[in-house]
Amino acid sequence: MLIDKYGRKITYLRVSVTERCNFNCTYCSSTDPTESVNEVSLEDYLRIIKVLSHLGINRIRLTGGEPFLRTDFVEFISEIKKLNIDVAITTNASLLSESIITKLDKLNIKRFNVSLDTLNKNRFYEITKTRLLNRVIENIKILSSYDINLKLNCVIMKSINSDEVEEFIEFASKHNAIIRFIELMPIGPHYNKQLFLPLTEIIDKLIKKKKLKEITPDYGYFDNLGPGRYFIYNLNKIIGFITPLSNPFCNNCNRLRITSKLTLRSCLGYNYEIDLKNVSSDDEIKLKIFEALQTKPQKYSFDTTIKDCMRSIGG
Ligand code: SAM
Ligand code: SF4
Repeated sequence: MLIDKYGRKITYLRVSVTERCNFNCTYCSSTDPTESVNEVSLEDYLRIIKVLSHLGINRIRLTGGEPFLRTDFVEFISEIKKLNIDVAITTNASLLSESIITKLDKLNIKRFNVSLDTLNKNRFYEITKTRLLNRVIENIKILSSYDINLKLNCVIMKSINSDEVEEFIEFASKHNAIIRFIELMPIGPHYNKQLFLPLTEIIDKLIKKKKLKEITPDYGYFDNLGPGRYFIYNLNKIIGFITPLSNPFCNNCNRLRITSKLTLRSCLGYNYEIDLKNVSSDDEIKLKIFEALQTKPQKYSFDTTIKDCMRSIGG
């Protein structure tokens, strides 16, 4: 079992399987998905994941960049499943299809987070620089027709999409999904401070309108919801707010990250990584894991912008 120096049990891993992306979200990216980058091989990821699974990691979220850009992604998932690890995926959903979703369902992948920041076509283009909104919505519909736990993640930006909150709640509910609004974090070279909006402002407004009731960990379903504050909206819809800046949730952090550069990172909001390339043995990997655990800070330090981009760290 991995326990850090603050007594937190580490059982959860996030892996960025590529830093490439077919979207260019204003706050995240500026890439060409066809550009050749030296991607880490499946074998190299699996070697580290195997050691981590022996040390108690039992849940993994695969993310990126856009993970479905990797042609070997489904094969990778099936290899991880052989280790008896629960696998979840974060995606922009633009590259999904009925046949991929069916394959994933056969692999018993039951947890998907889909990122979607606007329901408006023009805004979607402004944010992502693609015109794939309809395809994303079609794929959300397909996902919602399966027996899965679907969450929609929406990064709220001041004067860009903060007026869409209630529309998003209805959209998510219609597609059997839980919507989670996320605060813009100072990560990577594309962060624009002017767009930051503390989500406590939105929470307070909805509470004033008597539309929200906060739910607490004693609520049966809470463990599956992830970090953040959760509420019942209009008496029947669960919604979440992920507020790393206005209301940090580091006390319960249970995660480590493997980045797309095959480094081990103990915290999203801390510029420190341990290189896992060229490790010679499982014992050496173990030593590096324990070293990373030692570097895990008690809480985020977003005082300075995190220099790596979210695509590489794995959002
Ligand atoms: N491409 C996939 C997607 O968009 O879901 C997976 C990778 S993306 C980096 C994962 C999540 O990170 C997305 O929900 C995205 O909105 C979020 N993200 C990226 N940069 C962020 C930032 N600076 N602040 C908050 N969330 C961010
Ligand atoms: Fe791509 Fe996701 Fe970043 Fe948007 S948020 S550019 S979809 S990795």
